[in-house]
Amino acid sequence: MAFLGNGYCSSGSEGEDEDEGMEGYRKGGYHAARPGDRFAGGRFVAQRKLGWGNFSTVWLAYDTLLNRFVALKIQKSARDYAQAALHEIELLSAIAKGDPTNSKNVVQLLDHFKHAGPNGHHVCLVTEFLGDSLLRLIRYNRNKGIGLSRVKEICRSVLVGLDYLHRELGIIHTDLKPENVLLVSTINPSKDPVRSGFTPILERTVSNQYSGSVISFSEKMLKMRARRAVAKISLRRESLGGVAAEMEKERSLDGISLKCKIVDFGNACWGSQQLAGEIQTRQYRAPEVIIGAGYSYSADMWSFACMAFELATGEVLFAPKTCQGCSEDEDHLALMMETLGKMPKKIASSGTRSKDYFDRHGDLKRIRRLKFWPLERLLVQRYNFTEPDAQGLADFLRPILDFTPENRPTAAACLKNPWLN
Ligand code: ADP
Ligand code: MG
Repeated sequence: MAFLGNGYCSSGSEGEDEDEGMEGYRKGGYHAARPGDRFAGGRFVAQRKLGWGNFSTVWLAYDTLLNRFVALKIQKSARDYAQAALHEIELLSAIAKGDPTNSKNVVQLLDHFKHAGPNGHHVCLVTEFLGDSLLRLIRYNRNKGIGLSRVKEICRSVLVGLDYLHRELGIIHTDLKPENVLLVSTINPSKDPVRSGFTPILERTVSNQYSGSVISFSEKMLKMRARRAVAKISLRRESLGGVAAEMEKERSLDGISLKCKIVDFGNACWGSQQLAGEIQTRQYRAPEVIIGAGYSYSADMWSFACMAFELATGEVLFAPKTCQGCSEDEDHLALMMETLGKMPKKIASSGTRSKDYFDRHGDLKRIRRLKFWPLERLLVQRYNFTEPDAQGLADFLRPILDFTPENRPTAAACLKNPWLN
């Protein structure tokens, strides 16, 4: 059930190098935690912020009862967010119950409680501490693609998780994307509190201001602006042919463990109870969702394929934009057809919004001339894959990117694909 509707599913940088901003820290919004803050009657002590999403901030915390580090997800406090968190707890409880050995590559819920703060009552989820997201891995590698053997290893991990969710539990994740798959270990060992021998903070000290930094709010804002400006400049540089990126030192991915787990069940739903309506973050959204034709487990498979492509190339597969006289949805459908061929008429006409986008021949009404650029050719010409590599990856992805949801292979079927093994 996508509780909060489309507007709340963010795209791009959530939880990554940009800050969550200050606006979210208000009544009904985020809780401003500081290192040393205690939760659940003092049991969990906040250490540092790990990430954020549109629903929550997530902190590294120390569990003083069991003497271990955990992740503490502190939800925004407004009613809808609280409800989404309770729903997430329901799903994560089922997930943990069905996987007592914690081997299905889905994050484990350890505890949950409510925390009262100046901005309201925040539902908090305690989960196992995990490492960096796949988005960070892609960026760490300077968006170059991480190599096919690594892609395959990550795909296997994610598919084990998806197969468990879909087949054993009947859960559709509905927001699969690189931010929502976390490596089990951190990329940088010094960021791992256990491997780095980090001594837990147990008291709040005077210098522990908001977010754990020792700088003031206004300094923080200035720093944030400066960082955004730098990000913009480097984006521009990339569009100038990636010269600057070329000049930077290669980073090795050797030695980084690629075991990963699926997180963020804030939008997940039971397969039997899904509501119509928009799900998924834009770039990972399945065609049936765009045209309003309902969705099932196979919508997660679509997002999975988009993610696998992104791991392999460092770039999103579909990045739709609003164009002159057409909407983002139409551009998205056009991009899909340019890569995957024409959508079957039967499918194109099957949604509640079909008539907005397609004419009676099953052609897009407002985008007439499509430039067909199939997956394999894209991989060779744009991303410099060798022919056999491009063919292997394209042959793996194409069936998962079938416009007809029922034709897509299940996670279990993908796991049997020889390309992965
Ligand atoms: P939201 O529902 O607000 O999107 P998520 O569950 O996706 O929240 O968490 C937001 C971010 O916090 C993630 O993208 C990740 O960077 C970080 N995070 C979440 N869970 C963990 C965890 N168990 N260990 C480490 N970091 C985490
Ligand atoms: Mg998230």
